[in-house]
Amino acid sequence: MIQTETSRLQKVIPPTRGKVTLEAPLSRLTWFGVGGPADVLFRPADIDDLRSFLENLDQNISVWPLGVGSNVIIRDSGIEGVVVLLRGPFTKIDVEENLIVAGGGALSANIAIKAADTGLKGPEFLSGVPGSVGGAIRMNAGAYGTEVKDILSWAEVITRTGTVKRISAAELGFSYRNSNLQPDDIVVKAAFKGTKDNPNNIRARLQDFQKQREASQPLRTRTGGSTFQNPAKNKAWELIDAAGCRGQRVGKAYVSDKHCNFIIAEEGANASDIETLGEAVRQKVKEQFGVILEWEIKRIGRGTAC
Ligand SMILES: Cc1cc2nc3c(=O)[nH]c(=O)nc-3n(C[C@H](O)[C@H](O)[C@H](O)COP(=O)(O)OP(=O)(O)OC[C@H]3O[C@@H](n4cnc5c(N)ncnc54)[C@H](O)[C@@H]3O)c2cc1C
Repeated sequence: MIQTETSRLQKVIPPTRGKVTLEAPLSRLTWFGVGGPADVLFRPADIDDLRSFLENLDQNISVWPLGVGSNVIIRDSGIEGVVVLLRGPFTKIDVEENLIVAGGGALSANIAIKAADTGLKGPEFLSGVPGSVGGAIRMNAGAYGTEVKDILSWAEVITRTGTVKRISAAELGFSYRNSNLQPDDIVVKAAFKGTKDNPNNIRARLQDFQKQREASQPLRTRTGGSTFQNPAKNKAWELIDAAGCRGQRVGKAYVSDKHCNFIIAEEGANASDIETLGEAVRQKVKEQFGVILEWEIKRIGRGTAC
């Protein structure tokens, strides 16, 4: 069925200066390292290439932006439609007065470093968020009391029909780990604001954040970061721990001992191990505390939509 779908898509791919790969493996493009292929993987050459591709692509074909895959589970059945990956020119970062202007594919950590080098305080919390600018905006990424909503000036978004629009932070309707972007809206550029400070002071804060992370999170593992959002008045990790899920395992996936809201995938894990484990944890927390944990990690692929 996937083969047939791919052959059909091959015939309807619009002309592009970018790179198109059919039946493209995605597992190596995500932190969990799991999941099936995309029918089509598209790396646009630049904003105009992406704009015209989307405009000319049959509007019934789904489109999924993927950043660096630090907050997603790609399902084993793969992704139907076109996955868009922003690399090359989309990773450029410039400074314009008190703004850091970056492509949607730039790493969030590089925004923090550029801001520190420029003497702009504000974006330093992004230093340990291992995603891209587009992922950080969609997820309203946050750490140590600051979120993207606090530092974003504007974002340039291309809609599924190929319309480019510049929107202000206020128009993005940010809430806790969420924005009002449509699943197929693609952030191609954004401007983050900062205020003047001594670069050494900012770098000291970067180092402090890094130390806090090393102490509390299982870094350098195959994980998707926080699996569930913190419910109002509770911390997800505390509920998971109190429900007895620390170290719980399904197949090759287990709940981290170091941070109970992180799931870790061992070599040989598949997406279904991770998702089944997540659902088992939700069930236990619901039974014991009556609290329904909401997934923070996006689950993308054939099956229920994220
Ligand atoms: C070790 C670890 C620590 C983490 N710590 C934090 C933390 O402190 N705070 C925090 O908030 N998060 C944290 N995360 C989660 C994750 O890093 C962030 O959510 C990050 O912003 C996701 O960016 P990404 O590029 O990896 O997005 P992906 O995982 O690739 O995608 C996530 C979502 O964003 C969408 N998306 C990706 N790119 C674009 C784009 N260009 N335009 C529109 N939508 C797009 C995808 O479609 C998907 O819905 C952590 C993750 C890990 C693994």
